[in-house]
Amino acid sequence: MIYDIPLFVKKYMNNNTTIILKKHFLCPDLIELHIQKPTDFTFLAGQFVQFMIPDGENTAPRSYSITSPPSQHELVFVIKLIPGGKAGEYLKTIEVGDSLDIRGPLGHFVHKEPSSMTCIATGVGITPIMSLIEDELVTKKTNTPIRLIFGFRHAENIFWIEKLDKLTKQYSNFSYTLTLSQADDAWTGARGRVTEHLPEVDESEHIYICGNPHMVKDVRDRYLEQGVESKQVHFEIF
Ligand SMILES: Cc1cc2nc3c(=O)[nH]c(=O)nc-3n(C[C@H](O)[C@H](O)[C@H](O)COP(=O)(O)OP(=O)(O)OC[C@H]3O[C@@H](n4cnc5c(N)ncnc54)[C@H](O)[C@@H]3O)c2cc1C
Repeated sequence: MIYDIPLFVKKYMNNNTTIILKKHFLCPDLIELHIQKPTDFTFLAGQFVQFMIPDGENTAPRSYSITSPPSQHELVFVIKLIPGGKAGEYLKTIEVGDSLDIRGPLGHFVHKEPSSMTCIATGVGITPIMSLIEDELVTKKTNTPIRLIFGFRHAENIFWIEKLDKLTKQYSNFSYTLTLSQADDAWTGARGRVTEHLPEVDESEHIYICGNPHMVKDVRDRYLEQGVESKQVHFEIF
């Protein structure tokens, strides 16, 4: 989904040129990109920026969530390389030391008040959620429960499990369930879509959902049907 930002908003948005510091592939179609945090750049966990992708004489803006918490000195992204996509093709070839123009930060997928959190993500939809989770656990040292339901299709799509396992060991208030919707026979973990693993939430809890439009709608509808108030259900659609 491509956000077109109104002209009056663009006028007041920060544009910055940054440098690629690290790039590595998590899977054949997924890169983790670390870029220099511009001077005076501040953001809230869960926000995104636009990468200004060179496109002939113009630039094509593409939205990517910042997956690192605001306290980290670099900005980290995980990017799905869409075959034939302008950003996908460009970012495949970009190298450490190259420059990249970004615009932002943008977005309202943020955690405003202290409360327990249930997060639901599929695939690369984990990006803003990881920023929210790390900001709560590592930076704010919150001790309210934080749960994550994380879904993929196949085992070969899985990434960042070591990172999640490390968080569960370090923070007793954090737990996660990893589920595969199209697991093969060798898979011993949870099976099915994330919607089959949704935990009950208490009345003060906030829910954060990020992924494709169908998943986000299904999860949101289920919680609203259970009587959760819509102001407690936050979502970002990729
Ligand atoms: C707020 C926000 C945050 C986002 N954060 C991230 C992020 O952290 N990581 C990330 O990988 N993506 C993220 N996305 C999605 C990302 O912006 C798009 O995938 C991106 O615009 C693709 O650009 P492209 O130039 O490579 O492809 P395009 O040239 O824009 O599209 C090429 C083709 O691929 C299709 N397409 C585009 N995006 C997708 C998609 N996501 N899934 C399937 N088909 C698609 C298009 O319809 C088109 O047919 C985010 C989107 C939003 C709105």
